[in-house]
Amino acid sequence: MNVLHLSAECYPVAKVGGLGDVVGALPKYQNNLGIKASVTLPFYDRKFTQEHTFDIVYSGSAKLAQRYFDFDILKERTDCLGFSLYLVKIPGLLDRPEIYSYPDETEQFVCYQLAVLEWVVKSKFHVDVFHCHDYHAGLVPFLLQHSARFSALKKVASVCTIHNGQYQGWMGWDKFAYLPEIDVTKMGLLDWNNCINPLAAAVKSCWAFTTVSPSYLEELRSNSNGLEFLFELEKEKGTGIINGIDNDVWNPETDTFITKNYTSNIVKKGKEANKIAICEEFGLDPIKPLITFIGRMVLEKGADKLAELIKECSLRFKNEVSFLLLGSGEKEIETELARLKEYLSDYTVVIGYNEALSHRIYASADFIIMPSRVEPCGLNQLYSLKYGTVPIVRSTGGLKDTVIDLAEKNGYGIRFAELELSQMIVAVKRAIDLFKNQKQLNELRKLMMSLDFSWDQSALQYIQLYNQLISKK
Ligand code: ADP
Repeated sequence: MNVLHLSAECYPVAKVGGLGDVVGALPKYQNNLGIKASVTLPFYDRKFTQEHTFDIVYSGSAKLAQRYFDFDILKERTDCLGFSLYLVKIPGLLDRPEIYSYPDETEQFVCYQLAVLEWVVKSKFHVDVFHCHDYHAGLVPFLLQHSARFSALKKVASVCTIHNGQYQGWMGWDKFAYLPEIDVTKMGLLDWNNCINPLAAAVKSCWAFTTVSPSYLEELRSNSNGLEFLFELEKEKGTGIINGIDNDVWNPETDTFITKNYTSNIVKKGKEANKIAICEEFGLDPIKPLITFIGRMVLEKGADKLAELIKECSLRFKNEVSFLLLGSGEKEIETELARLKEYLSDYTVVIGYNEALSHRIYASADFIIMPSRVEPCGLNQLYSLKYGTVPIVRSTGGLKDTVIDLAEKNGYGIRFAELELSQMIVAVKRAIDLFKNQKQLNELRKLMMSLDFSWDQSALQYIQLYNQLISKK
């Protein structure tokens, strides 16, 4: 079975968040299970593409409205990622360094999708399943079904995975001309609230869709940035499959970024050594419990609540706890968190994206806080478990599915229900109390590190879904 993943991100080629991690790992694990999974993404002028060798396997052109554009399909020569990687290069559009935030983002992702389909149709590259990730590939399930240009692919299965339903790729109907010959009686499938909505079009047109956790599948029916009714209507097509951890990248035993490698047998010593190094670097006291936050500093992640929480903790638990944050996002949140550094001694924030530092923090922190408003799966808590770092999470989405409160049987994490300061303070107090009981903390660390959130199981679930779809055909 040949599966082609379409995505905007793929670690280590290009990553902003969890989407990159998933697309960099899932195909590799699927290949280990005996199918042929490949990835295609836009070409980005970044470290990975500069340092690897690519062959042009196809050159062609496609039409966006009245204009033709040329594109190349570049294949990474050695399959060094554990799967074949195909990059779509379009001069001036898909050859730039950033993944998002260009003013012509709509054109960027529409051209990407058109080029992929054109390449597959013309080159007869065999695909059994198009696996489309998020809205950046959301038009593909529709075009496969309803564009005469791609009619040769009409019977090919399409699966859409929703990593984040908040972003939907909205385009005005004035951009309808961007699409090739389509069956106009099906135009309604593109529409949601009077604009072209690629995520909605994907959910309506795909053979099946998945979300990255079972709880998120439920939540989309009541909170999905306007698509609630659609997710209710299409619920029979949906499955929740939890993300996994790529053991080659996230493993404290082998991680080359961290100061000292460790297994669960020496977790206390291992984390101590990592913590001492990082505390020295950032001027923090390693004797105190260290709570971290790593991620996008946006409302979705509850990052706007962190400053208030940290200030309150410094008053209530004076000298009892340290915070180290890493992230970037909305300028207002960044500025407020950066300013706080001037007033507090047990606190540091690093604004920016730093993959190596994130590994070092997972290995050294005692706790990670995730006060998310929305969390489709969340990988940070999974990495934290693997590194023996106790997650403090709001009970939502994938956090609800993967973190059991330590007050419950076999529990290991700290959960709170609502994004209210009082509840977050109670959660931090529980963390401080747990830290005082080092024996219990170390038992929990061993338990967390023994949990299996590897990709093996989830990769298999995706393959089972593909098989079901293909056998129905
Ligand atoms: P998202 O909603 O952002 O995709 P996930 O929890 O699914 O959230 O994935 C976040 C991923 O991005 C994790 O691998 C996390 O370590 C990484 N990450 C987020 N922000 C940063 C940052 N500033 N520096 C390094 N890694 C980051």
